[in-house]
Amino acid sequence: FLPHLVASLEQVEQTYVMVKPDGVQRGLVGEIISRFERKGFKLTGLKLFQCPKELAEEHYKDLKAKAFYPSLIDYITSGPVVCMAWEGVGVVASARKLIGSTDPLQAEPGTIRGDLAVQTGRNVIHGSDSPENGKRETALWFKEGELCEWTPVQAPWLRE
Ligand code: UDP
Ligand code: MG
Repeated sequence: FLPHLVASLEQVEQTYVMVKPDGVQRGLVGEIISRFERKGFKLTGLKLFQCPKELAEEHYKDLKAKAFYPSLIDYITSGPVVCMAWEGVGVVASARKLIGSTDPLQAEPGTIRGDLAVQTGRNVIHGSDSPENGKRETALWFKEGELCEWTPVQAPWLRE
């Protein structure tokens, strides 16, 4: 019975992932979504969205004191973004690994930023940094009716 007990203790997490305006402008949306799809997480929300300034400010409120904050808000609101909600055991940390370090020059090859970007101020993607922020950001960017509860047919082939 032990493996079942351990499995039932595993927490299903949510994370908020967003292709930033540079990723959309550079035609990287499909490439980026594909990396998460292939990994095996469950997509629960997806939309192309022009972010209003107030939402960008709320999303990045912890960075308000930083010198780069005004340019960060300009960047995020400069064109449409692709908003995604992903769900799964360990999805928050795993998404951050797929994304790579904040500075694309430090990000490992094989990561999204390591493969597809060169500068922190144009690092093509966002991912929540904790399960708590994953929930907070998913609720911030998606209205209730925009998220889907569903069971992918591949589910039994991804987890025993
Ligand atoms: N950022 C920036 N200059 C910096 C640090 C961060 O322009 O020196 C931007 C960058 O777009 C980054 C975002 O602010 O992705 C949020 O910063 P954070 O430290 O949370 O990095 P992340 O969680 O996105 O890796
Ligand atoms: Mg962050």
